[in-house]
Amino acid sequence: MALLRPSVLAAEASASSEVPAPVARAVDASLRRAIAARASDLHVEPATDGAGRTRLRIDGLLRPGEPLGRDLFAPFVSRIKLLAGLDISNRRLPQDGRYSVVVDGRRVDARVSSIPTIDGEKLVIRLLDHHVTLPQLDALGMDTDAIASYRRVAHAPWGFVVVSGPTGSGKTTTLYASIAELDRSSRNVCTVEDPIENRMAETSQLQVNVRAGLTFPVALRSFVRQDPDVIMIGEMRDSETAAVGVSAALAGQTVFATVHSNDAPRTIDRLIELGVERHSLAAALTAVVAQRLVRKLCTACRESEPVPAHLRSTFSPAIAKWFVASACHVCDGTGYSGRTGVFEVLEVDDAIRESIASGVSSATLAHIAAERGHRSLYADAAAKIVAGTTSFTEIERVVGWWVR
Ligand SMILES: [Zn+2]
Repeated sequence: MALLRPSVLAAEASASSEVPAPVARAVDASLRRAIAARASDLHVEPATDGAGRTRLRIDGLLRPGEPLGRDLFAPFVSRIKLLAGLDISNRRLPQDGRYSVVVDGRRVDARVSSIPTIDGEKLVIRLLDHHVTLPQLDALGMDTDAIASYRRVAHAPWGFVVVSGPTGSGKTTTLYASIAELDRSSRNVCTVEDPIENRMAETSQLQVNVRAGLTFPVALRSFVRQDPDVIMIGEMRDSETAAVGVSAALAGQTVFATVHSNDAPRTIDRLIELGVERHSLAAALTAVVAQRLVRKLCTACRESEPVPAHLRSTFSPAIAKWFVASACHVCDGTGYSGRTGVFEVLEVDDAIRESIASGVSSATLAHIAAERGHRSLYADAAAKIVAGTTSFTEIERVVGWWVR
């Protein structure tokens, strides 16, 4: 680690003496409120005339936090930058750092990123609470058939299990819940992650450190040499990582990985785009999961309403009523409380394997899967609307109902 230059030390010293106690208390209170509200991120951003504001991401959506007056905004930003080990005198280049806070005896990691916008510095603080109890596979929102199918592949002695979806769709939680079910005392379980979101017992977890040269492929290649049984790849975004994952699965290991894509059939295309050889992929792949996180309707205030005539026949069987969001004190006026997953679990059997190897389009693959009784992401979304778990509006917002 490089020694701090004297100028940086001087800047920090003067800044810490410049940060008055009320500012330190305001920062502390703001983080505590965010953690108490289950926020995943706290945004601190410039408003007009040198003032600022905070916003909290809760259940996937930003909500307004407290305004920061002209006197408070700049020292507020400096205080957080100082805590995260950033150079507070540098306001012209993006920086990132981290620190931890202890709230009610729990340590919460705060990963801070600062960006110089035209209006001033904007900070986003990602909050990682390592003590949140990991959900069980049964609690994620998969229906009974999907869970049974998923467990068959997750517990198999080898194979390549890929979970796909956009950022914030709960992919990593699904992988954690999968690994939590495995017998880890008799198996060598390794993870490569960025960031490590939760700590798991009897698991070798590795944090990627790109600056130090510890990238996903470098970390994976090292783990492969350490006699692994199960490998979790936090995110596959380059061809080398994908190639190591596929070859580890073909060598008899169970590999869990996440990738960005829209639905299960299109995940195959995404992996081919990443440079994975089609026949190796067909041979290695045992399941593709696509998922989204949607907000659950608040059961204290949700209201039953007639389904608009033009949408009734979309559901099979057709439905006349569904639930919509309202507002009450239980859900803080949002109409929603908590989230659940919408899932598509495509178990790769011989027919699907042949289709992948022969290079059929994702549309054809979706058609073949449907013929085999496979439930698509949209079918699972529809089932959750019918059950009153979530609303059509929420599904439209997150899944994009008509975009197939
Ligand atoms: Zn409510």
